[in-house]
Amino acid sequence: MTKQMHRAKDVVRILEQAGYEAVIVGGAVRDALIGRDFNDVDVATEALPLQVKALFDKTIDVGIEHGTVLVLQEGVGIEVTTYRTESTYTDHRRPDTVHFVRDLREDLQRRDFTMNALAMRANGEIVDYYGGEADLQARIIRAVGEPRARFEEDALRMLRAVRFVAQLGFTIEQNTAQAIEQQASMITHIAIERIQAELEKLFVGPFVAEGIKAIRETTLSEHLVGTFDEREWQHVQLRDANVGWAYFAYGSQMDAATVARTYRLANKQKQFIAHVLTLAHQDDWTTMDYFTYDIDVLYAAQAIRTWQHQRVVTTAHIDAQKAALPIQTKDELAINGQDVMQWRDEKRGPWIKEALAAIVEAVVTGNVQNDTQRIKDWFNREWNN
Ligand code: ATP
Ligand code: MG
Repeated sequence: MTKQMHRAKDVVRILEQAGYEAVIVGGAVRDALIGRDFNDVDVATEALPLQVKALFDKTIDVGIEHGTVLVLQEGVGIEVTTYRTESTYTDHRRPDTVHFVRDLREDLQRRDFTMNALAMRANGEIVDYYGGEADLQARIIRAVGEPRARFEEDALRMLRAVRFVAQLGFTIEQNTAQAIEQQASMITHIAIERIQAELEKLFVGPFVAEGIKAIRETTLSEHLVGTFDEREWQHVQLRDANVGWAYFAYGSQMDAATVARTYRLANKQKQFIAHVLTLAHQDDWTTMDYFTYDIDVLYAAQAIRTWQHQRVVTTAHIDAQKAALPIQTKDELAINGQDVMQWRDEKRGPWIKEALAAIVEAVVTGNVQNDTQRIKDWFNREWNN
């Protein structure tokens, strides 16, 4: 059991001892039951936020108006949320109001899928009002209650469904899938940042091709920018969401600036994607490419090779090429700008940078050894006349 789970159970016990019902809820219960790794463990309780705060030394108000208090238990943060219902979703996203309730069943009813509507008591007992355990067994993603109504309340749930496909390899139950198909266009009501976060989880899921297929089959793809073709995601297992974005941009024939603008990616992500795409579009990589690009960029471009060749292409030769470089970074050069200035009696200026770049290239490509005297000779011959 993880440290988080131990601390969450402590929190549940403390609440129980004070006379409040409390349970572990959400993804951690689901993941624990199927033996999947998890980090965050959420607690739900009938106690009101102020009652929760009164019981623990260290708490942080992270969302007290929604009933959530972060309890710090031996250095681990556990989110404790008062049982609540949500009502009147006028914009197909967040609820307008939340109501605290005393009944766990009501709290579980507001949750998106049966597998996410399970609760666990401190003694390990599972509370299952909506058939979540059976669906977990059958590997089915099923909306709690009437699917259409649930997606109408919150359209993000549709994307959560396909993201869980990619993470768990489960299938979406037929009525649930049909409801997504009928209401797919409502995904456009959702803030792009939330779409971005779901897609990032999908990209790195072990069943990403199935997730992409679900996006296409439910027609969510028609309301999202880019290409969602599962054939292109076969054989890939991405560890990093940024590699996913580069991969997605490549398959969608979008340049880095467009994908970054559309999905509001950070500048660093945009740069990474741009580098990966440059390499992916080159047939061959030169020694200078192996020197210039970070190993992560090379790996990511290699992942796109997998796509281009429809088979797994290993990265071993990238490591070998990198390792074989005479220098790994500019800092390893035997000379610096000062030396170059002395060798050539000229004022400081942009020429120094150019000269250094030429020297780096000569050393990296093996034209000259990384040795002060040899570089000086080369420089005097090639540059100083
Ligand atoms: P993970 O943490 O692996 O992304 P999770 O299921 O824990 O998955 P969270 O976003 O952490 O997802 O949410 C915790 C729980 O809150 C969910 O298991 C679910 O019960 C509920 N939940 C989250 N988002 C929604 C939503 N949009 N609609 C209904 N219930 C939701
Ligand atoms: Mg979670």
